Amino acid sequence: MIQYLKSVSSGLISLATGMAITLRYAFKKPVTVIYPKERIPMKRFKGPIAFVKEEKSQDHLCIACNACIKTCPSRCMSLVAAKSAVDGKRVLTDFKVNYMLCSLCSLCIDVCPTDALKHDDPNYDMVSLTQRDLVMDLLKPFRDAGTPLTKIPVVDPAAPKTPVAAAATPPPAPKSPEAPAAS
Ligand code: SF4
Ligand code: SF4
Repeated sequence: MIQYLKSVSSGLISLATGMAITLRYAFKKPVTVIYPKERIPMKRFKGPIAFVKEEKSQDHLCIACNACIKTCPSRCMSLVAAKSAVDGKRVLTDFKVNYMLCSLCSLCIDVCPTDALKHDDPNYDMVSLTQRDLVMDLLKPFRDAGTPLTKIPVVDPAAPKTPVAAAATPPPAPKSPEAPAAS
């Protein structure tokens, strides 16, 4: 009988202890978040490489200088530039980073003369079912938003060149008939 009472009292003490802990935490601020609806800012985290959005123009800052491409030790960046049909300047038409190869070393960010690149830190849960999705198109958000730099008309490199030189050179004059020889 004594043994039975001892086990009942020990069970009640254990229950009371558990309920006390539950009640204490029920009124505290939760330490978890409802992910992915809620996201916590990450410290000391390097997200994938992305373009900086210039505050005023909401455009990117890349001038297609190729410095980052040459510096990247993983050879995971590529860009395509074309000639502007307006003023003949270089226009960025494509910029891709292969996230599968990127080591997040930040060298591209360091060498960029216009501070056009950054780590997209909030993007800490980038996942994909295909490798293709991990080749990131950095210009896409700007194209989707229709920013001014993405709307510059460019010269089509495949278009036939205007034969300027040929048009400027007059065709040779027809030879005049030879004068009859004097007798
Ligand atoms: S962070 Fe490093 S590896 Fe990744 S794209 Fe930039 S230079 Fe290349
Ligand atoms: S270094 Fe900067 S400006 Fe030059 S191509 Fe790379 S991102 Fe663009």
